Amino acid sequence: MTSDAPVWPVVKRLFGEHAREYIPRYAVAFFFMAIVAGSTALTAWLMRDVINDVFVKQDRQALTWLPLVIAGLFMAKGFAAYIQEVLLSRIGNQIVAHMQKRLYDHMLRMDVKFFQERSSGELITRMSTNAQAAREMMNLLAVGLGRDLLTVISLFVVMALQDPLLSCVLIVVGPGAAYGMRQLSRRVKKVAGSEVNSMIQVVSTMRETTQGIRIIKSFQLEDKMREQMAACIEAVQRLNNKMVAVKARVNPLLEAAAGLAIAAAVAYAGWRTISHGQSPGEFFAFIAALLMAGEPLRRLSRLQLQLVTCAVQIKMLYDVLDTPAVEAETQTKPQLVVRRGEVRFDKTSFAYTDNTPVLNELSFTAPAGKTTALVGLSGSGKTTVFNLLQDLWRPSSGAIYIDNQSIADVSLSSLRRQMALVSQDVFMFEGTVRENLVGALKDVSEDAVIAAARAAHADEFIRRLPQGYDTPVGELGGRLSGGQRQRLSIARAFLKDAPIILLDEPTSALDSETERIIQTALQSLTGGRTTIVIAHRLATVAQADVIHVLDQGRVVESGNQAELLRRDGRYARLHRLQFGDLAAQS
Ligand code: ADP
Repeated sequence: MTSDAPVWPVVKRLFGEHAREYIPRYAVAFFFMAIVAGSTALTAWLMRDVINDVFVKQDRQALTWLPLVIAGLFMAKGFAAYIQEVLLSRIGNQIVAHMQKRLYDHMLRMDVKFFQERSSGELITRMSTNAQAAREMMNLLAVGLGRDLLTVISLFVVMALQDPLLSCVLIVVGPGAAYGMRQLSRRVKKVAGSEVNSMIQVVSTMRETTQGIRIIKSFQLEDKMREQMAACIEAVQRLNNKMVAVKARVNPLLEAAAGLAIAAAVAYAGWRTISHGQSPGEFFAFIAALLMAGEPLRRLSRLQLQLVTCAVQIKMLYDVLDTPAVEAETQTKPQLVVRRGEVRFDKTSFAYTDNTPVLNELSFTAPAGKTTALVGLSGSGKTTVFNLLQDLWRPSSGAIYIDNQSIADVSLSSLRRQMALVSQDVFMFEGTVRENLVGALKDVSEDAVIAAARAAHADEFIRRLPQGYDTPVGELGGRLSGGQRQRLSIARAFLKDAPIILLDEPTSALDSETERIIQTALQSLTGGRTTIVIAHRLATVAQADVIHVLDQGRVVESGNQAELLRRDGRYARLHRLQFGDLAAQS
C-alpha cells in the first residue's frame, strides 16, 4: 500500500486497540471465510472433470455425482458466508459502540474552551459517521484479507495446478494495475477529507435550525437558511460525485487488465488444445478459476481506496481522542475544604481569545456568609467571573481563592461540589422532574427532594404536572414558564446544599407575583451562605451586603448601596441608567 496515505498507522492503532479482545471471534470468522474460499476453488477445480468426464468421455457416473457435489459446495459456501458475515458485523458493531463510548467519555472531560472551538455539528459527526468508519475499516480488512485474498489465493492454486506456465504469465499483469491504484488512492484521500468537512456543515446548519427555529420564523430567515443548507448539501453532493468518479476509475483499469489476462489465456490454451491435442478440461478449470477470481480481485483492488476513505475519518476521531483531556482529574490534588466560604479574586487577568482581555487584574472579595452583588454594563465581565470561579476557564494570571485555598490547587470535583449555580438559562436534561432536581447527587431521599421543592416554592406547581415529580421534562416542552424553570433551578440549589451560591439573575422581567415568590425563595436559599449575584434587580442590589461595580474587567467601586449612592460616582450613574424609573418610584 502507499506510504503517503495515513492508512497503516490508523490500521495499526485500530487493531492494536481492539484486536486482542476480538481475536478468538476473528479466528472463527476466518475459519468460515476459509470454507467460502475453499468451496469456491473446489468448484473451479471440478470444471476439469465436468468437461473431461461428462462432456468429452460422457461418463454417466460422473453425471450423477458431479452435480450433487457442486450443489453441496455452493450450499456450504452460502452457509459459511452467512456465519462469517454475522460474526464480523457483530464485532464491528461492538467496535463502534466502544469507540463512541470512549469518545463521549473523553469529550466530557474536555474543558469549555474545547467545545467553544468546535461546532456541535463537528462533534456530532465525529460521534456518528467517523465512529462508523472504524467498523467499516475492520470489516474491509477482515473480508478483504480473509475471504477475498484467501479465495484469490486458492483459485490461483487451482490455476497453477492446472496450468503452471499460463499462471506465471498472469502474475506479470499485477504490478501495472497496482501502480494505477496508487495514483487513485492519493486523490481519494483528498476528496474524503473535504467530504467529511462538508457533512459537518450540513449537521451544523441543521442544529442551528432546530435550536433557532423561533428566531428563524419570526425574522423570516427561511430563505437564507434554505440557501445556506442547499449550499452545504450541494457541496456534499459534488464531493460525493467526485469521489464516485475517482473510485470508478478503478473499473476501466481492472477490466483492461482482466481482458488482457483472459485473452492471453484463451489464445495460449486454445493453441495448445488445437495443436497438441490437450484435453479441454484443464483449460476450462483454469478459465473458471480466473473468472471466479475476478470479483474478489476487483474488491481487493478497491480495498485500498476504501481503506483510505475510512482512515481519513478514523484519523479525525483519533484527533479528538488525542487532544489531552484538560479536566481529567488528578487524584493527587487535595480536596477543597470550605470552612467559612470566603471568595477572593486576586489580580486575576483573563482573555477568552488571545488578544481581547476581558478581566484586567480584577481583585475583589466576597465575604463569607454574605451577599455580594456584581453590577456593571453588559460585557463588563460579570459572567466571566462565574466562569473562572467554577474553573470552566483558567485565568492567564493572578489567582482565585476560596478560604485561602487557590482553586487551581484543589481537585475540580471538590471545587464544583461546593458551589451551586442558579442561572438565567435553566438547563434541563432528558428525564423526569425529580431526576432533574437530584442531578448527580447520591442517596437523596424523597423527603429531601420535596423539602427542597417546597423551599423553592416549586412543590405546588410540580404536583399539578400530569405525573407530578415523575413527569418527563421532555414531554413538558415549552410548558414550563420562565418563573417555574427558575424555581426548579433554585430547588436544585437547595438540594445541593452548597456553601457558595452563584446567582445569575434573569434579565427579563417576571410578573410581580412570580418575582415576589422567587425573591422569597432566593432569600431563604442565600441566607447564611456566601452568595455572589449578578444583579439586575433593584431589590437585589439594595439588599446586598457589598456591591462591586465592574467596568472593563476591573472593579471600579465597592461598598453598599447607600455608600455608593452617596459617592455619586460610577454606581450612582449606573443605578440611574438601569433602575431609573424604579428608583424614582421607590
Ligand atoms: P457580562 O456578564 O458582564 O455581560 P461577560 O463576562 O459575559 O460580561 O463578557 C465579557 C466579555 O467577554 C464580553 O466582551 C464578551 O463578548 C466576551 N465573552 C464572553 N464570553 C465569551 C466567550 N465564551 N468567548 C469569547 N468571548 C467571550
